[in-house]
Amino acid sequence: MPDNSIYTNGRGYLLPKIPIVVICYDGFDPSYLADAAIRRISPRVSDMAENGFYASAHSAMPSFTNPNNVSIVCGAPPRVHGISGNYWYDRATGKEVMMTDAGPLSAPTILAGLSQAGVKVAAVTAKDKLRKALAVGLAGEGLQGIAFSAEKASACTVAEHGISGEEAQAGQPVPDQYSPELSLFVLDAGLRLLRTGRAQVLYLSLSDFVQHAHAPGAPESDAFIRSVDRRVGALLDEGATVGIVADHGMTDLSLADGSPNILYLGDRLDARYGAGQTRVICPITDPFVRHHGALGGFVRVHILGDLDHDEVRDFVSRLPGVELALPREEMCRRFDQPMEREGDVAVIAGKGVALGTHKGAHALGELAGARLRSHGSVAERDVPFLVSQPLNATYRRKAATEQLHNYDIFDFVLNGTRSEGN
Ligand SMILES: [Zn+2]
Repeated sequence: MPDNSIYTNGRGYLLPKIPIVVICYDGFDPSYLADAAIRRISPRVSDMAENGFYASAHSAMPSFTNPNNVSIVCGAPPRVHGISGNYWYDRATGKEVMMTDAGPLSAPTILAGLSQAGVKVAAVTAKDKLRKALAVGLAGEGLQGIAFSAEKASACTVAEHGISGEEAQAGQPVPDQYSPELSLFVLDAGLRLLRTGRAQVLYLSLSDFVQHAHAPGAPESDAFIRSVDRRVGALLDEGATVGIVADHGMTDLSLADGSPNILYLGDRLDARYGAGQTRVICPITDPFVRHHGALGGFVRVHILGDLDHDEVRDFVSRLPGVELALPREEMCRRFDQPMEREGDVAVIAGKGVALGTHKGAHALGELAGARLRSHGSVAERDVPFLVSQPLNATYRRKAATEQLHNYDIFDFVLNGTRSEGN
């Protein structure tokens, strides 16, 4: 490779000549973008679409936050890096393990590659669980980059995060983890790092707290979109090339009366095969369940008893509300999943349906009467893909002829906006 580029997970990336900012606009379903463009409440982002580049892209499956954030910074799907959900079931130990705690990613990140090539790189996330995964090879002992979360900004140390708590927080209050301000803090921190020359490449990952709670057009959603737009504008005004993608879309999974529309798959399997014969894992489960009750449109079924796997798959696939029930190998082949963490049967919900384990096992009270809005299925796979600059001819052709993924964003921002022959 020439020394003006790095090579990560099979792709080359040109080192930037101007500042680059990639934003993961968490849960930014295409419906928010369309509505915001029609009512002109997000002028800077709409302008990116009109005068730069806009397309609808696929997110990585399952359409959850962690697999997609990791895919974006690796430029590769879960098959390559191993993060295919928040939780997985370790057959050997019979335990549910949080994937991001299970050890380093099985692939390097673009952020680490750029940093190790001498580029000043910073990753700022809303939640700390994600920061840990993104910091691998970037920030920490012997490393030059910066990686911290809004959630734990005040506790940063130069040794672990590449930045002191004082500088990370910059006198701003650390927002509640269930607040729109958590995302705005991320963008403000990114802007400061850019303005002070601390970072030349920034990855800013927001939280989907607002989108889980509010549909497009709701006053709370409008206020959030306007606040994000002003900050995107400030980043653009600093001369940065900005790329925006979402990690997944968002669908209302409630009935007309406001109650959540849940297919309790664990209950159905127990009724059919007996308790303890199967185990349903909801990989959306995380320590912050308040906005979705650990309910989404994708679960994995592990068969523990002596059951015919094809029969179980067939039974699940015939349940109304199930869009697809796939054996492990087919799920991995069709949706680029890592084999070792896949269930015996992968189950994708139909649009508008949440998949759960057992009635009573989900903290529905945490929704506090709000409509359940969530993600995980193919219905939330389409996400906006925006670049603030027009693409060069090679990337215009690429966009026109290939299925775009959100994890192509670094490729498009770093390579696709450069004049050809560079
Ligand atoms: Zn998300």
